[in-house]
Amino acid sequence: MKKDNKLIKIPRSKPRRTWTRNPVTKIKESEKVYKRGKSGIWSTDEIDKADELDLTKGVEKTYRYCLRCGTEMVEKRVDHHRRKICPLCKYVFYHNPVPAAGVVIKQDGKILLVKRKYEPYKGDWCLPAGFTEYDESPTHCAIRETKEELNVDVKLDGLYSVYSGKDDPRTHAILIMYWATIIGGELKPGDDAEEIRFFAQDKIPPNIAFLAHRQIIKEFFGNQ
Ligand SMILES: [Zn+2]
Repeated sequence: MKKDNKLIKIPRSKPRRTWTRNPVTKIKESEKVYKRGKSGIWSTDEIDKADELDLTKGVEKTYRYCLRCGTEMVEKRVDHHRRKICPLCKYVFYHNPVPAAGVVIKQDGKILLVKRKYEPYKGDWCLPAGFTEYDESPTHCAIRETKEELNVDVKLDGLYSVYSGKDDPRTHAILIMYWATIIGGELKPGDDAEEIRFFAQDKIPPNIAFLAHRQIIKEFFGNQ
């Protein structure tokens, strides 16, 4: 039998999904420049409206097939909410927000920000934060994400505040922020960061990713 020497073609994996336009805010990403008042902090009331963004239309954009058995799911009212359920195995898809955690690090009245290396909002600045893994608590997540992004160890100094991140194109995030102090390591950009810098109020860059992060910065300087 003749041996087939042809190389087996392995199909290329699709490139990572990118977002040119945020599906919720309809804002074209990385080109956002928000109006700022005399204080150097956003005067727009857009931030305050963040919590009112309507995500109910996102229900039908969720999974089509049952995550447990693969049958096509149908919409039904369960617990006063329109949900996708599986007609075969009765799996109910509860479309819950995803928790995320991060840190607010202060130095000489300045706030530490990270320039994003990846989408969404590549090239924009934000606070160090990330989604919680299934097996970790929000505090562990905040410490781990800081280590990954800033290459430093931190101790958490208490809760800063909690936010609803409805303009994240990936999911609706619940962002838990902690005050933190650097206790070790060398501050340098890690996995997801392109650059790290402390910013004074009048030097905050205009392109801040996510409405919640703008709110955090606004509160940081408002509370000093
Ligand atoms: Zn099923």
